[in-house]
Amino acid sequence: MADPLVLPGFVNAHSHTFQRALRGRRTGGDFWAWREAMIAEAERQTPETVRREYAETYDEMRAAGYTAVGEFHYLGLPEGRAAAEAAGDAGVEITLLLTAYARGGSARFRQASVGDYLEQVETLRAEGLRVGCAPHSVRACPRDWFEEIGRLASEAELPLHVHANEQPREVEECLAEHGLRPIELLAETGCLGPRTTVVHATHADDRELDLLAAHGARVCLCPTTEGNLGDGFAPLMRLRERGVGICIGSDSNVRIDPLEELRELETTARRESGRREVFDTETLLCFGADEGAASLGLERWPEIEIDTGHRSLRGVEPGDLLDALILGCSAEVVRNASTEA
Ligand SMILES: [Zn+2]
Repeated sequence: MADPLVLPGFVNAHSHTFQRALRGRRTGGDFWAWREAMIAEAERQTPETVRREYAETYDEMRAAGYTAVGEFHYLGLPEGRAAAEAAGDAGVEITLLLTAYARGGSARFRQASVGDYLEQVETLRAEGLRVGCAPHSVRACPRDWFEEIGRLASEAELPLHVHANEQPREVEECLAEHGLRPIELLAETGCLGPRTTVVHATHADDRELDLLAAHGARVCLCPTTEGNLGDGFAPLMRLRERGVGICIGSDSNVRIDPLEELRELETTARRESGRREVFDTETLLCFGADEGAASLGLERWPEIEIDTGHRSLRGVEPGDLLDALILGCSAEVVRNASTEA
């Protein structure tokens, strides 16, 4: 048998694992129609369904080469604990990105006050879980919530993840409410810094991207989900020009394959620029692993093995393996490596 290639495990920096249940389901003509179906699915969840179904999906992630996950969690504390147990079973390192949700969505997503939210974060931290702060979005949180959460995250040096600029309507509503675009609001409320990850940033303008770069914040791109939901194209060339760190996520879990996320990212940048090799392979692998780990505050996470004897890699020269991996393989080349960190 050919010697396996050992790589750092891929890091899934953004997952809503319960949404895996929607795979293949017809859920309406646009993002907002899909969101209704997604909320109905969220309402169905209990600690027991999370414990069982997340374990299955984390197992699917582990088999695809993701050995760490940022679970962007808005289903409640007992369900958060169940998610952490499920990840442990699957051998996946988890950072629970506990969501703050003030308005909209489902009643079960919401806390009564930002004080209640901060208390939930402290409770889970005291139980020994790796936790990050996640004000859901500018749709779901008012300005004072961002200020309070930004303060806690920076004092406690916690990761801060937030959806922003996913849909044009969200940007318009933010401008109407605050006179600011979403990433401008994050900057003004102390929520942008080196431990911040902005998820999507699809419709960010140049000034917003400048703010990300100036504050050392990252973006998390989720190309298979963004494509599936019709979000638009991530501003890849403009992120690249500014040297903004990029990580990846399986988000809605319509597809679970880190190589496909990275390939979509690179080939979208090629289509946009008319160039090739926009991000080199080492950079893409760094997006897939180290940047994700940094975004989740992780120092150690399991490695993976690539089956170099797999038919997808037949005839590939040893020096070309990494390029062939990104451009020519799906996650079926990942061997079920040890679950040791
Ligand atoms: Zn998301």
